[in-house]
Amino acid sequence: MKKAEMKPFKELLLDLRARLRGDVSSLANSALSHGTDTSETGRAPADIADLGNNMLEENNSLLLMDNEEEALQQVEGALERIADGTYGSCVECGSRIPKMRLKAIPYTPYCVKCASELESNRRT
Ligand SMILES: [Zn+2]
Repeated sequence: MKKAEMKPFKELLLDLRARLRGDVSSLANSALSHGTDTSETGRAPADIADLGNNMLEENNSLLLMDNEEEALQQVEGALERIADGTYGSCVECGSRIPKMRLKAIPYTPYCVKCASELESNRRT
């Protein structure tokens, strides 16, 4: 994935990380409403707008997961992969992760196939 393509995901991940850390107050709320503090934080609301508002709503549901610590680690990992330039590839098999999936779960390190395999392993 190109750096430019990663950028909106990076914004989302940073936002998600802030929320998982309990840093909810200004960041998330302003991003969802007007984005008035953009000059201060250097965020790029245009990129987020490109991905649509549905995505932001979906992110709220992501925060309902039971293990926030694990989620935070995954977000951190995704940010590292963006820095490495490997974001968007499955860490398990190396396949490209579909953008649709990344939009739904921006921090996922796995493609659909590997994720479902891991999921079934976890249940047993
Ligand atoms: Zn995979």
